[in-house]
Amino acid sequence: MRKQRQMRKRSLLLLLFIAATISSAQVRSPVPVLCYHGFAEDTMGVTGKLTEQYARFEDMLRFLARSGYQSVFPEEMQSLPEAISRPVVITFDDGRKDQLRAAEMMHRYGFKGIFFIIPARIEAESDKSMTPTDLRQLVALGHQIGVHGFAHQSLPSSQEETDASVSTSIERLTSSISGQSSFPNFAYPFGHYDTATYRRTAGVYPFLHTVNPGYWDGVSNLLPRMLITSDNPGDFFKTYVLGSTEFQPVLELVTANGSTADRVEFRSLEPMVIEHAELLSVSADKDGYHYAIHPAAPALHIEGSKVMLNLSGHLQRYYHDTRTVISYALVERRERGKIVYLSPGVMHWVVR
Ligand SMILES: [Zn+2]
Repeated sequence: MRKQRQMRKRSLLLLLFIAATISSAQVRSPVPVLCYHGFAEDTMGVTGKLTEQYARFEDMLRFLARSGYQSVFPEEMQSLPEAISRPVVITFDDGRKDQLRAAEMMHRYGFKGIFFIIPARIEAESDKSMTPTDLRQLVALGHQIGVHGFAHQSLPSSQEETDASVSTSIERLTSSISGQSSFPNFAYPFGHYDTATYRRTAGVYPFLHTVNPGYWDGVSNLLPRMLITSDNPGDFFKTYVLGSTEFQPVLELVTANGSTADRVEFRSLEPMVIEHAELLSVSADKDGYHYAIHPAAPALHIEGSKVMLNLSGHLQRYYHDTRTVISYALVERRERGKIVYLSPGVMHWVVR
């Protein structure tokens, strides 16, 4: 009898231990994923061109280091030591030569990043794009080379680009760099994907990087990323990074991610007040990408736990014909401009 009680006590303790292990594993907040493009000493006159100032970038590195963030590669998340409580993924798109100095700055602060390279643009000598020597230097500094399509075409509108992205790209990169044998990370050119291109790329690359606003849950193979450029207000970066500790979306996407449908449906896991909801979207035109927030209530309709969004109505109301909306998230703005995500980032692309 006593033995049985002891056994029961022991198994109860074991259960408690497992529960504690699970909950401590879940304590880690969702991961902010930063996405940079070009860099310049001074960004006056280059507004909208996806460029960040070196000085502002260094401020951000200092802020991340001071706040206890440690850079990780997505494939490391599953086996990350508990001591790393604030992981961040730092990425760079397009293989621009001006990113080399940023790579050196990161190295000085003990950060590592993923540099997404366009394989078709690698040349032996170049002032604008990274050369094989540059790529080798990045790897030597502890950074990783990622794949950014093949020739930087939108995958859903080019079968050729999709085919090359999953066949030729890795081969081209492997022949240009030694020291990196696997390429687990892929970034969609322009952030574009649809169901078909998602399936093709997911068959080759374990981690797919988008420009959907939001945070990465550390598990999904589709990573949202926040674009950081000199066009963002100074505190935008900090708000984004620190906001991950409170990221608990209450809306789950029901319709397909990456669709071009006019109406999108979410399932609400908790009651929400739609009057406060706003749509944060990344849109693009010939000058580059921009974030904007507009009231979403007029485009939302609730039926029980169903939340319907009339996206085309919203776009007609707020966006010019020349702007393409790439992705969005439903958010709520709290005191002092703090952004709380109601939904995860959703892909939506409109070609006009
Ligand atoms: Zn790009």
